[in-house]
Amino acid sequence: MIVAVASGKGGTGKTTVAASLAVSWPRAVMAVDLDVDEPNLHLFLKPQITEIETVTLEVPEVDETKCTFCRACAELCQFKAIAVMGKAILTFPEMCHGCGGCMAICPEGAIGVTTRELGVMERGTARGRVACLTGRLRIGEAMSPPLMRHVRARMTAEAELQGADILIDAPPGVSCPAMSAVADSDVIVLVTEPTPFGFYDFTLAWEAFSPLGKPMAVVVNRAGLGDGRVYDFCREHGLPVVAEIPYRRDIAEHYSKGLVLAELDEGLKEQFAGLCRTLASLAKERDHA
Ligand code: SF4
Ligand code: SF4
Repeated sequence: MIVAVASGKGGTGKTTVAASLAVSWPRAVMAVDLDVDEPNLHLFLKPQITEIETVTLEVPEVDETKCTFCRACAELCQFKAIAVMGKAILTFPEMCHGCGGCMAICPEGAIGVTTRELGVMERGTARGRVACLTGRLRIGEAMSPPLMRHVRARMTAEAELQGADILIDAPPGVSCPAMSAVADSDVIVLVTEPTPFGFYDFTLAWEAFSPLGKPMAVVVNRAGLGDGRVYDFCREHGLPVVAEIPYRRDIAEHYSKGLVLAELDEGLKEQFAGLCRTLASLAKERDHA
């Protein structure tokens, strides 16, 4: 079972919810931070890191002694990552998507492979039982999808081997990385707050994720703030509000210290245990649909 925790915008409490679900999950679980631009699930779970893998992308390296400057590679590359200028050939590794097209098409076999570092994947364990996987994009790197693909491949293989469920902390928003982070999930948890900004971005997330046809459940953070539009929208669109996290000073203080919300008091502990059960039921309903 894969649960993706997503939000229409940053700062709604998505990672707070993901961390609380991870420590409350009743079975073997892997917590995966796919917000590779700005991973912060580890700040709450504080895993003991046991493995750091550098993730690279294969990019072209041209042997000019073999090149006839026919331009076939430059005409093929949609990303303008390789260019021929007279009797010179230029590559722009930062723009390369690593599709391998130019290498395959070169009639002279002049294009070999080198690598560009995308970032790292960290593997660790929190609370002695929560497997943690984090993708961390290199500073200055713009291309997150290949790193996300690498982390997802590892997550799927390892969770299958261990019979573990997966909790994904997705990137905020509705961009390609956010869509790709929720693509494999059985249930999407949308975390929002009942403010005008929260409501607007929540509706965008609903519009983006609805066509995937996956069960969605809503967690309202900072409940008590703002107005009732999030609740009205959920009623109109048949979206279950499965948890409300109250707008309380002690919660904000706990969060600001990097502590896990489900461990603040018995009430929140029970609330997140219940949320785990609700999400498992939603995933089961989907299996039987
Ligand atoms: S396709 Fe090969 S031979 Fe043609 S310009 Fe590119 S590198 Fe040179
Ligand atoms: S590998 Fe693909 S994206 Fe990169 S330079 Fe070659 S054709 Fe362009």
